[in-house]
Formats: sequence, structure tokens, C-alpha cells
Amino acid sequence: MEKTIDFTKHPVTEIYGMHCFNDAVMKERLPKNIYRALKKVQEGNADLTLEVADIVAMAMKDWAIEKGATHFTHWFQPLTGLTAEKHDSFISPTPDGKVMMEFSGKELIKGEPDASSFPSGGLRSTFEARGYTAWDTTSPAFLKEDNTGVTLYIPTAFISYTGEALDKKVPLLRSMEALSKQAMRVLKALGNTTSSRVITTVGPEQEYFLIDKEYWEQRMDLMLAGRTLFGSMPSKGQELEDHYFGSIKERVAAFMRELNFELWKLGISAKTQHNEVAPNQFELAPIYDVSNVAADRNQLVMETMQKIAGRHGLVALLHEKPFAGVNGSGKHNNWSMGTDDGLNLLEPGDDPHENAQFLVFLSAVLKSVDKYAGLLRVSAANPGNDHRLGANEAPPAIISVFLGDQLQEILKNLSEGKPVTNSKGQKMLLGVSTLPDLPKDLTDRNRTSPFAFTGNKFEFRMVPSSESIAEPNVVLNTTVADILSEIADKLEKASDKNKAIQDIVTDTYKAHNKIIFNGNGYSDEWLAEAEKRGLPNMKSTVEALSELTKKESVALFEKHKVYTHKELESRFHISLERYAKQINIEAQLMISMATRDILPAATEYMSSLAGTIGGVKAILSKAPTGTLEKLLEDICGGIDTLRAKTLELEKVLVAAQAVEDVHAQAKAFREKVFPAMSAVRTPADKLECLVSQEYWPYPTYEDMLFRL
Ligand code: ADP
Ligand code: MG
Repeated sequence: MEKTIDFTKHPVTEIYGMHCFNDAVMKERLPKNIYRALKKVQEGNADLTLEVADIVAMAMKDWAIEKGATHFTHWFQPLTGLTAEKHDSFISPTPDGKVMMEFSGKELIKGEPDASSFPSGGLRSTFEARGYTAWDTTSPAFLKEDNTGVTLYIPTAFISYTGEALDKKVPLLRSMEALSKQAMRVLKALGNTTSSRVITTVGPEQEYFLIDKEYWEQRMDLMLAGRTLFGSMPSKGQELEDHYFGSIKERVAAFMRELNFELWKLGISAKTQHNEVAPNQFELAPIYDVSNVAADRNQLVMETMQKIAGRHGLVALLHEKPFAGVNGSGKHNNWSMGTDDGLNLLEPGDDPHENAQFLVFLSAVLKSVDKYAGLLRVSAANPGNDHRLGANEAPPAIISVFLGDQLQEILKNLSEGKPVTNSKGQKMLLGVSTLPDLPKDLTDRNRTSPFAFTGNKFEFRMVPSSESIAEPNVVLNTTVADILSEIADKLEKASDKNKAIQDIVTDTYKAHNKIIFNGNGYSDEWLAEAEKRGLPNMKSTVEALSELTKKESVALFEKHKVYTHKELESRFHISLERYAKQINIEAQLMISMATRDILPAATEYMSSLAGTIGGVKAILSKAPTGTLEKLLEDICGGIDTLRAKTLELEKVLVAAQAVEDVHAQAKAFREKVFPAMSAVRTPADKLECLVSQEYWPYPTYEDMLFRL
């Protein structure tokens, strides 16, 4: 690998997508009839036949082998939240002692990984652990290059023998289907005759930190828990806001350049990159894709980031809150719905008809976010995000929608029967006249909203940085589909369509405007106001998780065939278990770090300081040692508190570990262990400020956040 990528030697237009078996490659390499048949399969209008699969497999294999591939793998996303793969080689021995490179349609369509160790939350018992991977024809296959060589990756869905979803992709595909179905009903009722499918699109902006690998290796907490469990605030934090959009440091620039190179080869359109608010925090934004492809690609983005960082002696931290006291990381899930013939349903149009359509779809989103706020909240919950959401930083744990004053004003006036005038000064009547011109880019007018309308899409900003974007999108798609189905019921029956549209828009606004908030989402006033409005404020994962298995949630997901009751129960179970395991790891680590590193360092320094004071006094009986003795006393007090709090943590941890029921156990971890951990951190961080740097066992926040 060259030191820095020279894009004159590798013109972007030539390398872009060279490792992606995309539409252009398929068009070029597949016989016309097969290409057309596959397109039909992708659009959901035909089943895949073995004949088509065989020919596609052959083309894929030839393409991959030309580029040096020796293996292929079915790539899937089990409920661990990570990706999984098992590599098989293309080799097939021949009787004369040689080999042929083979890859059949059967192998392309279906795999059977021995996957009994993945969490299934009770969906499978190990004795019948069969799980199948099934080719997702709509997400392009790609090549990955590493020390094992070049491998062909086939994006797949992971299902059990009995058809239950064992992964995050199956429900996502089902939710996309549900939304398309209901949105098409609405469109048809509105008179659309040209579209045949509605597609949900997502552009996930990924935040992350970069730190020097040497520091990372000295911090067990970062290595094992992904975040620092100790560390006193640096003298300088993000208060000067000098990092945000600042110029990019050279070492980081070299990393970004190579990251772009690798992503572009995969056909992933990393488009913008910039410094984020916190020191050493960055963001990468791709161009949006269809939801399932966006979810796959976001996994690849995260993986590639980590790999490339390693090549530059850096570590990419994807955790939601690696450092206390500075901003954490999230993903901005930019989401919209569009038709197969190119209409963005969340874009205000130029003619009255399109505007009526826009307001109907906008109303559906408003109502769904209000009605299902709890589900959206839980879709963004993980142990890491508990340190962000509701902890005085972006965004709050309360779901609200930012519409911008102008759009809200329009909805408000419509709902009150007041005149709304358009840019030409004409009075507006839905479906008859056009909307006033709306400003396109509202993003930067409100950065604190968890769910912001940004001109032609919504930006869901709560999504955890380290997690798959599948779940939030499953919830978005399904809840909006649900409200669209209600709207379709009304529109299909209506004799006066314009009147029906007017009613839907105004009734929705009246009933659900409590979800709209255009102000500062971090403020205490908003907390109080939200409570008055009756909006839920779920502070932690454990609290939020109960939303999943509520009667209404089960009914919603079953109605739209996205999750069965059993599948929801399994996810509930797995998430609770994961929560408990994560906090358990962190608590154990804390005890070990406090006892074996911090305590010895502090006592050693204390002893040296005591010796010094004693020595000075022996020589100079009147020496002014008062403040030094006070320092000694503070250190001694700190050590004592640290030890006492560590013992308390040990006690509650042992008690939590002994709880048998998963839900009760997760609660014990949240309510008992989690606060006991903070109690250990406080004296340790104070000690860090008192003990000589020479004695301190870890790189400090200053080192990690400012040295690169
Ligand atoms: P903004 O200025 O509002 O942040 P950008 O154009 O920078 O808008 O886009 C931010 C992210 O939103 C990008 O990832 C972009 O691809 C994505 N995006 C744009 N349009 C859509 C859409 N229709 N559906 C989903 N994501 C979109
Ligand atoms: Mg954004």
C-alpha cells in the first residue's frame, strides 16, 4: 500500500465501485433475459429460479476470480449487532488431482452456517440450531481484500428452520415491504397511476473518534468496553468549539483519504467528512441508499474505518460515549420515502397536487412519531447511548419533531381554518393551490432536535453510533406504514378527496402537534414543557425495552408482518441480556482497574509524598508543610473513599449477578450497579488530579483527545 493514495494514479471514476457487483456489472455480464429476470426478482415481482441463480452465480464467480478472489462468504447480521461470515473456497477437486473453481446457484441462494452460538433469544434451541442464510438479491455483492486474500461477499438474510428472523435484515426487508404496500394505497387513492412501489431511503451520517493506538493499548477500559471508565476532564474540552469544522490534521487526513479510497472501491459513496464538535471527533456522510443497502453499507463503513485506522496507528472509536464530559457520537439517520419513478414523498412540490400529497405523508410521519414515540426511543437504545440520551447532550431522550416555524405555521393555520397564502399571495386550499415556498435547508437551524424535518427528509438523530441502523429503520417504516394504512382507509372511502385530505391534515395536526417542538431540546424548560405535554421521557435502555413487548407494539408489528410476537420476545430477551452483560463487563473492569492500577499508583505516590514531608520536617522543623500535609490528607482520603466505593460496587455486582430472571437482572444492573460505578469513578478522577503524572497508570484525556 502506498503511503498516501495518489488519485492521479487511481482516478476516482475508475476505482469507484470496482469491488462491487453492481447493476452496471450485472448489465454487462449477464445475458439480457437473465438480467431482466433478476431485476424482476429485485423488484419483488417474480421468484428467483435456480436457472437464473446458476447463471448469476457463474457471472459473479468469474468477476470475483478475475479480481483475485479465492473464497466466497454469505455475510449476515445476527442479533449480536455485528456482522458474521464463514468463508468457503471456490475450489472443487477433480479426479486428476487438480482443482476447478466452482460456485453454483444453490450456493449463491442459500447457506447453512453452523451458527448455533448466535443469540436467538429462545427462537432456537441448540439441538435444532439450523439457521439458513438467504441471498438478499437487492443488496450488491462485493469483494473484500485483506491478509486472507480476496473474498466475495454475498449479503444475506439469516432465518431459522421454521422461518423466524434471526437477524436484523429480515425485519428490515419486511418493514420496507409493509411501508410500500400502505404508501401505494395512499398514492393510488390520491390518483397516482404511474408508480408501482415505494422505497424507503436512508443516508446515515456516522460519527466517531480517532485516538492514537498506543494510548488505546494502555487503556483496558477502551480495549474491552469501548469507553473510558475513568479519566478526569481535560483542562481544555470542547468549550472553544475550535474543533468543529476546523481544518483536518494531516494524520487524520491521510486516514480519511485511504478510507475514502477503500469505500469508493466498494461503491460506497463517502461524500463528506469533517471535524465534529468534540476534539478528535469526526463524521462521515454517504449519499443515501435504499434502506437495506444503506444498513449493509453502514456496517461496512464502520468495519472499514476500524481497519484503515489500524493501518495509520490509530483506533476508530465507535462507542456512543468514549469520553465523559465531551460530546458523544451518534448516527444521523436521514430517512425518506420515494416512488420507483422518482417522486420523493417528503418533498413539497411545485403543483397543488404534489403539495397535498406532501402534506398527507408529512402528517403520517407526525402522527406515527407521536403515537409510537416509545418504539422509536427503544430502537435507539443501547447501553452506550444511555450516556448520551437524556444526559444533557445531543439529543435529549424525549422524542419530538422539528418542523421549522414556517411549516408549522402553515399546518397550524390550516387546522384553525385561517387563511394560508402562497408565495403569489393566493389563498391556499389543499389540493387546489400550492404551498408557500419553504426554505429547503432547515438542518442547521436546529441541531438539538431528535427528529428534524430537513426539507425533503427527516433526520432521526438518536441512533447509536456503534449499532446497526436496521432497528430504527424497522420502527420508522412500520409505524409510518401503520398510519398510512389508516389514511388509506379514509381516502379510499372518501367521495370528496380534497375535503378528505384537508381533514386528514388538519385533524392530525390538532391531535398530534404536541410532538412538534422547534426550540432548544437541551434546555431544562423543554424537559418541564415535554412533561406537561405528556411526552414520554425514558432515560435508560432497560426502561425503554419494555415498549417492545407491549400489547400495542405486538399488534402493530404482527399486523404489518414485520415481527411475530415470538420474534419480539426474543429481541426483548437478547437486549436485556446484552445490557446486563455489558454493564457486568464494565463493573468488573472498574473493580480491577481501581484495585490493581489506581490504588497502587495513588498509595505509592502518597508514600513518596509522606516520606518527602517527613524528610523535610526532620531537617527544617519550622518548614511550611501545611499545604503539603493537606494534599497528603486529600490523597489519603481519596484512596479511602475509592476503596470503600469499590467494595460497595463489588457487593452490588455480586448481588446483580445472582439474579436469575433476565429482566430483573437488567434492572439490578441499571438501578444498583450503574450508580455504584459512578461512585467509584468520582474519587478515582479526583485522585488523578492530585497524583503525580509520573505515577498515574493511564494516558489522560488530554493525551487521548489532543495528541494525534
Ligand atoms: P443536509 O444539508 O440536510 O444535512 P445533505 O444533503 O448534506 O443534507 O444530506 C445529509 C444526508 O442525508 C446525506 O447522507 C444524504 O445522502 C441524505 N439524504 C439526502 N436526501 C435523502 C433522501 N431522500 N432520503 C434519505 N436520505 C437522504
Ligand atoms: Mg446531519
